[in-house]
Amino acid sequence: MPDTPAPVSLPTPSTARPVPGQLTFAAPRRGKPPQHLADLDPAERRSAVEALGMPGFRATQLSTHYFERLVGSADEMTDLPKAIRDELVSGMLPRLITPVRTLEADRGATIKSVWRLHDGALVESVLMCYPKRVTICISSQAGCGMNCPFCATGQGGLTRNVSTAEIVEQVVHSARLLRSGQLSGGPEDSPLRVSNVVFMGMGEALANYRAAIGAIRRMTDPSPDGLGMSARGITMSTVGLVPAIDRLAKEGVPVTLALSLHAPDDDLRDELVPINTRWKVDEAIDAAHRYFEATGRRVSIEYALIRDMNDQAWRAELLGKKLNRRGRGWVHVNPIPLNPTPGSKWTASDPKVEHEFVRRLRGLGIPTTIRDTRGSDIDGACGQLAAATA
Ligand code: SAH
Repeated sequence: MPDTPAPVSLPTPSTARPVPGQLTFAAPRRGKPPQHLADLDPAERRSAVEALGMPGFRATQLSTHYFERLVGSADEMTDLPKAIRDELVSGMLPRLITPVRTLEADRGATIKSVWRLHDGALVESVLMCYPKRVTICISSQAGCGMNCPFCATGQGGLTRNVSTAEIVEQVVHSARLLRSGQLSGGPEDSPLRVSNVVFMGMGEALANYRAAIGAIRRMTDPSPDGLGMSARGITMSTVGLVPAIDRLAKEGVPVTLALSLHAPDDDLRDELVPINTRWKVDEAIDAAHRYFEATGRRVSIEYALIRDMNDQAWRAELLGKKLNRRGRGWVHVNPIPLNPTPGSKWTASDPKVEHEFVRRLRGLGIPTTIRDTRGSDIDGACGQLAAATA
């Protein structure tokens, strides 16, 4: 079966207290995107090509063009007979995402792209060049249903789930952008490749599980079946959907897990991350720890530092103790200075307070690094993606 957008069958948060605003797992099905090569595994691709009346091996040729050479236009596929090229490309590589807008920051080292999907839904991705790596931050849903009050995406609600190929396309288009030399400041000594993918754009990827895991497989499958990326270079960020974290741990693709905790106590986390009314702080941390045990991958705890909300030294101590209670060396903390979002009353912590927060965690032996967020001047930083160009 192709990985078409489908809600992951998570238990509905029935025991949760009512949460203000939208909190749905089942995304409204607007327009189902056309099926694309990147929705399918290699066997399914062969069948799809055969269904078009062509021999199955054409699927491998097409995969080589798409995943290895990053080619998507029929003209460039000169090894395919001219008579079938157009039909093969329109049948297997339909246009799924169209750039609406591209914004640059950091003197060209950060590029935010706004993409229009076939039904008009918008998603955003952000490409970031660092001296030793190139990271793309991708969207796994158009909008988000998690309703975190400090996040611009959360405030806009969920438009729809995206498909596996709509996720992969963000990576492939960005890889083409990179190759065309439109980004500056990348690694000097290595060929320009997207080395890291973070599911930290719009959406809660684990609420669109089937599409997200399909995209992870396409990214990590060796070429020409997939993009041949290392699972270590992929980070799945989640509000803490416990059953989905446990499921991910069993997939055999050891991506890095990042848990958006933002508070070590339920009172505050209920407010900052509303899904906490369903899966509590300790349940989320336990799931993250199980993920570490199953995969050996060190987990990252995301903690947006919000002035006078969650940045007190006692909260750093409580967080450190809760993490240490599960073991040593399994986790690191990634505080993120809060990025401003429209209409939000909150701001980032005072630098002295931020420093103290980090000091307390390190004092407890927890590796802690402040996240270098990029692109806040183009509304491209964490929590600012709202596709406001419509
Ligand atoms: N749904 C996923 C991905 C969200 S974006 C998740 O919640 O993990 C990635 C990170 O940015 C999350 O940790 C999210 O909480 C954080 N974030 C959201 N809004 C932010 C803001 N205004 N400033 C800083 N970080 C923010």
